Amino acid sequence: METKELFVIGHKNPDTDSVAAAIAYANLKEKNGVKATPLITDEVNKGTALALKKFGVEKPKLAHMVDFPEAGVILVDHNEAGQWADGLIKEHVHELIDHHRFGDFSSAKPIFVRVEPVGSTSTIIAELFQEYGHVPERHIAGMMLSAILTDTLMFNSPTTTEVDRAMAEWLNEIVEIDMMEHAQAIFKAKSDISDMAVSAVISKDFKEFHFNSKIRVGIGMFETVDAKNPLKRTAEFIKEISQIKNERKLDYLLFIIVDILKQEAYFVIGGDKEQELVEHVFCGEMKDHTITCPGVVSRKKQIVPPLEEHFAGLQ
Ligand code: MN
Ligand code: MN
Repeated sequence: METKELFVIGHKNPDTDSVAAAIAYANLKEKNGVKATPLITDEVNKGTALALKKFGVEKPKLAHMVDFPEAGVILVDHNEAGQWADGLIKEHVHELIDHHRFGDFSSAKPIFVRVEPVGSTSTIIAELFQEYGHVPERHIAGMMLSAILTDTLMFNSPTTTEVDRAMAEWLNEIVEIDMMEHAQAIFKAKSDISDMAVSAVISKDFKEFHFNSKIRVGIGMFETVDAKNPLKRTAEFIKEISQIKNERKLDYLLFIIVDILKQEAYFVIGGDKEQELVEHVFCGEMKDHTITCPGVVSRKKQIVPPLEEHFAGLQ
């Protein structure tokens, strides 16, 4: 029935989960006799590059190289329109596999949807491998395992579930690595910003949300094993924040450095509006243009829901 070519694609500014889920789900489709190709929206981060190299997996092609109107698209690891690849419209969307809140998602036709409140999309893909009775090859298992470990911050994020642990254990029966050592290597590679422009640091893991249907909030996260280094560049970040905010016509831009070892978030405050919002919705007082929130590490579970509630209460 379906003759169009299928592409599997994650969100803009891809993290390891978006890349791994696209690769693994395309692989599962092929095992089930359906031709599917993974794509990426933008260049991968250094942590993902390390995982691809370690497991000998080819980096997917960039989405803008593809003619979407002729294709069917499977969205993985996102659903909100602000995070879709450029040029994508809902008529293209064929399936959705995700672990985020539903934002403004709607489809043009009935589609297959699988959403679970687990720590990573790759956890769901691993479950699907089991449900279809397939065992992934080591390189595919290695990518899914890398994604589970990074998305759950080595099982420390409050998004972590028993299913994530169970799937990681199962995958590691195939991959056989020291999981913590591997996760740390990825985070260390990701933390290296020595050759990165401030704009790239802010937008490498950047998502746009639309609250109360009209308030546009951009949230950039930078996960690191040592927050001291990026915090030295606070003045540069602040300048860049107002620039990006204007360019993208955002009402607010939150840039948050997360120290995954200390389990602490540092909101770099770009302006008065942001200061007011963070002090009101989250915690603390501003010091050196940053507000520190202990225990906050997850955008989807600890940052987006309080914002959603806050903006819903405004008329
Ligand atoms: Mn993601
Ligand atoms: Mn994810």
